[in-house]
Amino acid sequence: MHSLETIVSWAKRKWFVYPGSDIYGGLANAWDYGPYGVQLKKNIQDLRWKTFVQMRPDMVGLDAQILMHPKVWETSGHVDNFDDPLIDDKVTGERFRADKIIEDRLEQWDLSLGQLTDTYGVKNLIPESRTFDQMHAFIVGEIPNNPNKKKKQAAEWTEVRKFQMMFYTHQGVVHDADDAKIWMRPETAQGIFVNFRNVLDTTRMRVPFGIAQVGKAFRNEITPGNFLYRTREFEQMEIEYFIAESDAQAKYAEWRELSKDRWENKVKLKSDRIRFREHESDELSHYSDGTFDVEYQYPRGRGELQGIAYRTDFDLRNHQESSGKNMQYNDPYTGERYVPHVIEPSFGLSRTVIAVMLDAYDEEQLTNSKGQEETRIVARFPFAIAPVKVAIFPLIKKDEKQVEIAKNIYASLSQHRVVEYDDGGAIGKRYRRQDEIGTPYCITVDNDSIDNGTVTIRHRDSMEQEVVVIDELVQWILNKKT
Ligand code: ATP
Repeated sequence: MHSLETIVSWAKRKWFVYPGSDIYGGLANAWDYGPYGVQLKKNIQDLRWKTFVQMRPDMVGLDAQILMHPKVWETSGHVDNFDDPLIDDKVTGERFRADKIIEDRLEQWDLSLGQLTDTYGVKNLIPESRTFDQMHAFIVGEIPNNPNKKKKQAAEWTEVRKFQMMFYTHQGVVHDADDAKIWMRPETAQGIFVNFRNVLDTTRMRVPFGIAQVGKAFRNEITPGNFLYRTREFEQMEIEYFIAESDAQAKYAEWRELSKDRWENKVKLKSDRIRFREHESDELSHYSDGTFDVEYQYPRGRGELQGIAYRTDFDLRNHQESSGKNMQYNDPYTGERYVPHVIEPSFGLSRTVIAVMLDAYDEEQLTNSKGQEETRIVARFPFAIAPVKVAIFPLIKKDEKQVEIAKNIYASLSQHRVVEYDDGGAIGKRYRRQDEIGTPYCITVDNDSIDNGTVTIRHRDSMEQEVVVIDELVQWILNKKT
């Protein structure tokens, strides 16, 4: 796997992702999507929407607001419980997420659970399942040095304490009034729960059914970093799938399989880099009866791409109590009335973008036509995800007939797919430019196009060429799907 530094520099050079507020020296851990990045992100999002909304009669979409009534976050438990364990090194004043430095430490070592149980009384290797005192004891005992320093430097650790991760702002003109304080959503899911009644009353959806949305979420992360992996502003693609309690285990298993299929066969991540992991029972949130993570092997270790949680009826029941609005479903067939349970497949969009970039980026050693060794940078995005599907080149920029044909091809193909017109430089250079952004096909218009009405299509991965009749190009591109 290539280093994160290689990916970050390629991402900037090839218009995928720029440092946020770059002209002012950047804002730490903020990133802006450039022209190809925004297209890549949109394709990932569209693929998921197509799979889980467009192609499913039991799913609908929603777009709820980022700013919601403060009661939503009190009821969901976020005001009291949405916090991370924070620990400071008193020597440098640096702050760390206690569970994350424990996780990093465990990844470096070959520690047996038995050793940990004897010394620290823990039952598994999952840091989040420990109490703050257990985390503190482990850090003091096993992480004597500041993890940020390359040279050994002893740390002086504080106690582990809670850090509220929700950002807030003020609504209206009265800034110091407490009732003007408003939270910025740390997840999109609550927007779905508070609209459950509306969707049920105004649509023909019947349990089991799901609601999907895509949107920004904000978390005041203690240690953001690793490029797009952990940022304070990011995007999620969440689904709440409402079910009868008796159906829960079957639907939970079904969503696990659907998710595996998505990562392996739609997003097509390399199978040796993804891991599917069921949570240990003492790792589960108090309201959850099962959680399953999809993890990706990033250059600096494993990290969550998606979580699937069986959240019981926790959220709807709490909102029912707190709002006084009835969240019950009347089953038209059995006459039963109940508050539905829910399965939550929660995908991280920003984390998928970086996983897809890491997976696609490749440096291939080639011998060129002059017999010299050269490196071809090629992004092997699956067709459905590639930001540009086809590039169109007139072989000779000054040949008016070639240019006219190439522009006509651009006009007709761009109605169906994102395509790019490029007439700058030698043909070999143009191929390399497209390889670097992962364009699967390049179409060259030459004299044969004028004489015979054909073009040459060069394939990104094999670099093989095929001849296709211009009149058949639209059908040819419509047949390319994955
Ligand atoms: P982590 O343990 O890594 O902080 P989490 O378990 O808190 O993640 P969830 O609350 O389950 O994450 O959020 C659902 C998805 O949102 C995650 O699977 C992840 O892909 C994404 N996500 C969460 N926090 C961030 C972040 N700070 N930056 C980018 N993506 C994030």
